[in-house]
Amino acid sequence: AKKEGRNTYQFYDVKLDKKTFERLEIENELRKAIDRDEFSLHYQPILNLCKNQVTGVEALIRWNNEKLGTVSPAQFIPIAEETGMIITIGEWIFSTACKQLKKWENEGFALSISVNISIRQFYQPNLIPMIESILKETNVSPEYLTIEITESMTMDVETATNILQDLKELGVNISIDDFGTGYSSLSYLKSFPIDYLKIDQSFIRDITKSKGDESIATTILLMAHNLGLKVIAEGVETKGQLEMLKKHRCDEAQGYLFSKPLPVEELEQFDKFKETK
Ligand code: C2E
Ligand code: CA
Ligand code: CA
Ligand code: CA
Repeated sequence: AKKEGRNTYQFYDVKLDKKTFERLEIENELRKAIDRDEFSLHYQPILNLCKNQVTGVEALIRWNNEKLGTVSPAQFIPIAEETGMIITIGEWIFSTACKQLKKWENEGFALSISVNISIRQFYQPNLIPMIESILKETNVSPEYLTIEITESMTMDVETATNILQDLKELGVNISIDDFGTGYSSLSYLKSFPIDYLKIDQSFIRDITKSKGDESIATTILLMAHNLGLKVIAEGVETKGQLEMLKKHRCDEAQGYLFSKPLPVEELEQFDKFKETK
């Protein structure tokens, strides 16, 4: 590579610097984001497919920064993870979601909220006391809170089992997000105290066109039901996908077909949300 000449080097350096700079900028802005009140939560409805009713919503964080504009969670969550800021941000997410849940409960809406947690948060010793104290402060019933973890977090089976058991003792529900993408052994499913599997959207996308994807989805459904778990399909965008999922007795679904993730005010205008009252 050394022989490629000065220009190539310079080009490479400039590109690298730009990426590093962008990252640093995100990191710097991220540090001030909570104080500046730049985060919000959007909520995506989750429908029960038998009843055709909204049973809950998934909370998804949004970040709007003056300098950077809208930055997607796929971009800033990994940086928050690496820098440890996820701990503070994660606490803000739980607290905001639980306050919203209580507000809806007081207004007579019966629904639950799913909150995503990331790996560093999951293995952080303060996780259980943090959730416990937020539940206490907000006076939210834990059965209305679901925590979404991914398979990749459960590599250390023993530690993960202990954390999950502690979470279950709090009374919250546990869901395995992006199920099927984690390349992990399935044996954990019988020992982990979990309630839901979420079939990753990559398997839903071509479910009506690809026999392979249909088999994966139906196999996950059969296995989950045999283990007493409920299944949520995510990324449902078409009627065809929905019909296929119903045919195979999928319990719940979320996706653009029903609604994209919405800010509170817009969610409250959504017909099927109003019906939860
Ligand atoms: P995820 O937890 O798997 O969330 C699902 C993503 O799919 C969301 O993207 C959602 O907006 C999007 N989505 C929903 N319905 C559809 C659909 O029908 N079609 C398609 N193509 N996409 C759909 P989003 O909000 O950009 O979040 C991306 C990822 O960032 C999340 O993936 C999650 O891993 C992470 N994330 C988002 N919010 C939080 C949070 O509050 N805490 C943590 N730790 N991670 C978060
Ligand atoms: Ca999720
Ligand atoms: Ca997911
Ligand atoms: Ca995902």
